[in-house]
Amino acid sequence: MATIELRQVEKKFGDVFAVKPLDLTIEDGEFVVLLGPSGCGKTTTLRMISGLEATTGGRILIDGKDVTWKHPSERDIAFVFQLFALYPHMSVRQNIEFTLEAQNVSSAERTQRVGDVAKLLEIEHLLNQRPGNLSGGDRQRVTLARALVRRPAAFLMDEPLGALDADFRHTMRAEIKRLHLAQHATTVYVTHDQIEAMAMSDRIVVMSAAEVQQVGTPHEVYHNPANLFVARFIGSPGMNLVAGKLVDGHLLLAGGHRYALPQPWQAHLAKLAGDDAILGFRPEAAKVSPDGALAAEVYANDLHGAYSVLHLSLDGENPETVVHVRADRFVHYPIGQPVRFDLNPALVRFFDPKTERALIAE
Ligand code: ATP
Repeated sequence: MATIELRQVEKKFGDVFAVKPLDLTIEDGEFVVLLGPSGCGKTTTLRMISGLEATTGGRILIDGKDVTWKHPSERDIAFVFQLFALYPHMSVRQNIEFTLEAQNVSSAERTQRVGDVAKLLEIEHLLNQRPGNLSGGDRQRVTLARALVRRPAAFLMDEPLGALDADFRHTMRAEIKRLHLAQHATTVYVTHDQIEAMAMSDRIVVMSAAEVQQVGTPHEVYHNPANLFVARFIGSPGMNLVAGKLVDGHLLLAGGHRYALPQPWQAHLAKLAGDDAILGFRPEAAKVSPDGALAAEVYANDLHGAYSVLHLSLDGENPETVVHVRADRFVHYPIGQPVRFDLNPALVRFFDPKTERALIAE
């Protein structure tokens, strides 16, 4: 397996950056997800690692070797596109084996390796069938087997589950994760689905507008977003962001609320007194309680099965002051009802509205 290093790697189409200079080291055996909205440069980054796209600057190293100008076939990397791309006229065994024939692997070793991956993916009983006779899940396993049998140094996957329905995505997500845990193959996986990224990755590279916004574990990007983009993009709904002014150990919010800064924020933010700041908190950091420090009124109420998400307005019917708060699904909260809530002091965050960056990077 392999480490992958990107050093100031960039891609320009004409004068426009598709990927601004990017530094990233993917450790041996790591599962890294490139996450971001459409057009942010994820696929271009992956294609540069694979060699399908030439860089316009920087260097790419695989296991310490500079492969920047090497052909894709010389990089020992398997690129998994859509997981359904199998040859219908070949048996499952032939579909898995043919890449090895192209690599001049001996017949005995081919049989051995196909047997090994078929066992790992539990598709031994399907080897003599045609892909057309298989269920979607089995076809997906065959495609993975075909990538695995080559024993590449790393796997690159571009939205491999993109075309699947929600249930099946869920199942295949678990399959890919199990496979990764069994093989510890270095994997770079592109998706725009933050739930997929959170569920599968060791680390997430959050990208927007051709630039890396943050690199961190799922826990880090969720709890300590580096900037407002990450705070909004990660989570469903994203982090609540409420603008205010720092005054006297408090944040003055819309609607005249005074939110007393918890320790250690009082000390951290003391020198910013008089400045604007944005309070950030996740829906589960808030707790509805009759004597809560913040007052609001119910703007809307979504039932999520196990819990409900209240939309609470801090300032009458002004939708710009609406925050999302998790609440007990068994309690009925009619629209317009006044409620109070508290914030878990360990889970509040602050951002600078000018730079959009978190006020303390942790
Ligand atoms: P998606 O999820 O939609 O695939 P992405 O994050 O993978 O998006 P890229 O496909 O890497 O984004 O594209 C990044 C930017 O580069 C986009 O603005 C895209 O229009 C541009 N781009 C990509 N390929 C080319 C090309 N061959 N010529 C010109 N511009 C391109």
